[in-house]
Amino acid sequence: MTDANTKARLEHWVRPEIRALSAYHVPDASRYIKLDAMESPYRWPTEQVAQWQAILADVEINRYPDPSASELKLALRQTMSIPAGAEIILGNGSDEIIQMLMLAMCGENRTVLSVEPGFVMYHMVSTFTGMHYVGVPLNADFSLNRQAVLDAISQQQPAIIFIAYPNNPTGNLFDRAVVEEIIAAAPGIIIIDEAYHAFASDSFMPALDSHENLFVMRTVSKMGLAGLRLGLLAGNPQWLAEFDKVRLPYNINSLTQASALFALRNQAMLDQQTRAICQARGELYSALQQLDGLSVYPSQANFILFRTQAGQGTSIFEKLKTEGVLIKNLSPAGDALQDCLRVTVSTPEENAAFIQALDQIV
Ligand SMILES: *Cc1c(COP(=O)(O)O)cnc(C)c1O
Repeated sequence: MTDANTKARLEHWVRPEIRALSAYHVPDASRYIKLDAMESPYRWPTEQVAQWQAILADVEINRYPDPSASELKLALRQTMSIPAGAEIILGNGSDEIIQMLMLAMCGENRTVLSVEPGFVMYHMVSTFTGMHYVGVPLNADFSLNRQAVLDAISQQQPAIIFIAYPNNPTGNLFDRAVVEEIIAAAPGIIIIDEAYHAFASDSFMPALDSHENLFVMRTVSKMGLAGLRLGLLAGNPQWLAEFDKVRLPYNINSLTQASALFALRNQAMLDQQTRAICQARGELYSALQQLDGLSVYPSQANFILFRTQAGQGTSIFEKLKTEGVLIKNLSPAGDALQDCLRVTVSTPEENAAFIQALDQIV
């Protein structure tokens, strides 16, 4: 077995567009205050942890999970106020739902359209599935460029449009009226990705009933359950029946089903954590604004985007790391995100440690 043989063989067989990719990089964060991935800093009170463990002990791990996760779906319908006319399907994270949608709709000359800067997975999974990806640039203030999006839709006739609402990595909610125009213009389907719904003041969930090709995607990841890997797509039952055909059987494992169900039945605990994060977001925003040389963008999510002075983004990011704080450096993405850094809102203590470190650097 030589490296040269392997190289020749894989260059022959692995799809060129996959070889051209670099693997999705997750930094080792074990030594850091971890503010890079929009995770909740909160775990559960000991009493709830004990109740949860008792439930897990009863799970029949020798059996396959409930293939339709019906009990969990019912709980999600209630807590997420899914309209009665809508159906839902579940994914192993909303990332898997993005993959299912594209698997069901990919093919020659099929286009996925979203905005840039936006969530990287839309582009990545387009590449995996051989779909053409078009990212329409946002305005300089990260609002939707209405005319550019509408023109791109009319030229490209996209099969799928993704709009993250609030947007990642910018944190803002787009103008609802413009999103409604985009929905009306969509020739195929449009997904409103509400990963940060818990921290935001608006939602398209109530609009599902009035649009045959509109879907709302949610995840429990940003609500303190990132380890479970559970996302959902709500919308038109006829479409969802088609998407369900490319879902691998048993994609939601028994431990995730039992744990998510338990968490949803303790909704008050999750809500309290969300309120704490929204409160901390306001404080962190003000603290960032008081530091010299930063432009801070308003956020409806559990993270805040800010721009450093020209040419300083990466060095500030690296210095924060030296101080033991890991955030996200968006500078390598270039263009509109030049010198932009993104910090996840955490506990008041961790936020203060971040601000203190940043204050010494800038
Ligand atoms: C984090 C995030 C997701 C991914 O959610 P998972 O359910 O963890 O796969 C989806 N969309 C956006 C916009 C996100 O920021």
